[in-house]
Amino acid sequence: MTKKQVYNFAPGPAMLPAEVMAQVQAEFLDYHGAGMSIVEISHRSKEFAALAEESDRDLRALLDIPGNYKILFLQGGATSQFAMAPMNLLAGGRTGDYLHTGIWSGKAIEEARKHGKVNVAASSEKQNFMVIPGRDEYRLSEDPAYVYYAANETIGGGEFQTTPDVGNIPLVSDMTSNILSRPIDVSRFGAIIAGAQKNIGPAGLVVVIVREDLIGKPSANLPTLYDYAVMAKEGSMYNTPSTFGWYVAGLVFKWILKQGGVATMEHNAIARSAKLYQAIDQSGFYGNPVAPEFRSRMNIPFTLADEALNDVFLKEAKAANLVELKGHRSVGGMRASMYNAMPQSGCDALIDFMRDFEKRHG
Ligand code: PMP
Repeated sequence: MTKKQVYNFAPGPAMLPAEVMAQVQAEFLDYHGAGMSIVEISHRSKEFAALAEESDRDLRALLDIPGNYKILFLQGGATSQFAMAPMNLLAGGRTGDYLHTGIWSGKAIEEARKHGKVNVAASSEKQNFMVIPGRDEYRLSEDPAYVYYAANETIGGGEFQTTPDVGNIPLVSDMTSNILSRPIDVSRFGAIIAGAQKNIGPAGLVVVIVREDLIGKPSANLPTLYDYAVMAKEGSMYNTPSTFGWYVAGLVFKWILKQGGVATMEHNAIARSAKLYQAIDQSGFYGNPVAPEFRSRMNIPFTLADEALNDVFLKEAKAANLVELKGHRSVGGMRASMYNAMPQSGCDALIDFMRDFEKRHG
């Protein structure tokens, strides 16, 4: 049966590359001649060991990850890392400095307070998170273990366009919604956390890239499963990992490499987001409240001039096979999430639909 072609603008779980999905389907019942499915084979098998090794190598190549960093493939989603990062990195009474730029960094702050000392070094809450504080606004503590920020606020639609400059202090960043969409200098980070279900693969997996020398000093009574050092030593297999998620992640890494790597992903993201923002700004009917220099390339919230038309917009969009455009409940309006797997044709179809809708209803 051929699948109905829809463009899925969901914030996550989100669209995955069509080629990857086809490969998953083709080899689902028989993984590499094993006579078993990837979801049936042991994580201790030689097939899985090969897959784990390749995914490590491919992600290292994609982000140019230095040898003194470990890549962990864990369960628990990105939210688990809001606790695990401070549990592992704030032991001994150290302070984590946090930049508060939206709902996701806010949740990380709340969670970190349960596990260590937190200093909110800068916040754009008063500006309703429509801007990202500049370096001159940071009030860093004396000797922070790290400076934490959410690289892309999936709900509000603000994105750091450059990596914050905090000298030698390690950065810890939640890159759940923009990892692999732009090059980064990993050596500036103590840890990078990224839930999989946007740019990496299916939900149920979180990727952590962590600097080796920072781990192994966890807080007292840390559950074994939450100890980065244990997970690093055991190759993320202290217990059974999310084998299917890890497998699909590996295929997505190969797909990105084949497309030309992160530079190509960035090029595509700039092209998609620039034309959608332009369409919004030129319309007079649609609006995006985020300051232009901080606008996300991945998640684009927008409003209609007349809110009463929201439901009609969503219904007509769905009929045009443009789905999952409803904005987050805390923000309202619409949101178009366009991750690496979103083809330009999807973005073009949305813009055409929006123009047509405005003509008919504007
Ligand atoms: N951080 C960011 C930036 C996110 O967008 C999300 C999910 N949308 C999360 C964290 C939480 O991810 P999870 O549901 O995997 O815990």
